[in-house]
Amino acid sequence: MGYFDNADDCLKFFGHQRFTCGKGVSQPCQLRYLYYFEAFYRNKIKSPAAKRLRGIQFVQVPNMSGGGCVPFFEIYSCRGLDIRKQFTYPAQRQYSQKEQGVIFLLTEQQKQGMTLQGDVKILFKHAGFSNKVIFRIMFNTAFIQRGNYIKAGKMELSPEDIRKDKNKVIPEDLIVYIHFEDFCEVCNPYETEIEDLCQNCVEEIGQETLNEWRSAKQIMTEHDFPDKELGHQLLAGVDP
Ligand SMILES: [Zn+2]
Repeated sequence: MGYFDNADDCLKFFGHQRFTCGKGVSQPCQLRYLYYFEAFYRNKIKSPAAKRLRGIQFVQVPNMSGGGCVPFFEIYSCRGLDIRKQFTYPAQRQYSQKEQGVIFLLTEQQKQGMTLQGDVKILFKHAGFSNKVIFRIMFNTAFIQRGNYIKAGKMELSPEDIRKDKNKVIPEDLIVYIHFEDFCEVCNPYETEIEDLCQNCVEEIGQETLNEWRSAKQIMTEHDFPDKELGHQLLAGVDP
């Protein structure tokens, strides 16, 4: 079997299939997953990890209607084409662009009632006639940086179309912070090998996901990291 087939299989594991979580291919998601691919290959991330959501913050307020928005969000768990809504954070109130930002804090009950694992999509919407999507973001819980948060600027949010708004809808300097805490106090994806995960984690993550990771790991240990040129071929259509 050629190298290309294997590396392509691996990229599928990390990306290709998963970009369908949302409408079509979106560049910000592709780039995030390319980074995951590299972190995985370089063995910076050793195992999948479950997380809990603490809260989300916007710095700056989108303008969806009347100089602000009534934001809420939905969380989807994605397994390839199997996409399930896991949680809805209800709209609280209208936020004005005169305010510094938006804060969504989860109650202890909400936090404990939801474990995030694997590919997760968060859809931010404006509560109005049609609950229009403001933007979305997709990530994998194994690759959340130390400190347990994701920081994303406007360029890292999907769909790409939001960049064509002349900054009238989404402020140019909008930043989204997503804060997590660990599901497990013992394991962590930077140090714990798959076979050393505790029983709680094994049950939460599931054998199917663990087997995917095992086979991806095996493929990667047998091959060299793709150089820049091959990387471009593998990610045809991505223009970094
Ligand atoms: Zn654990």
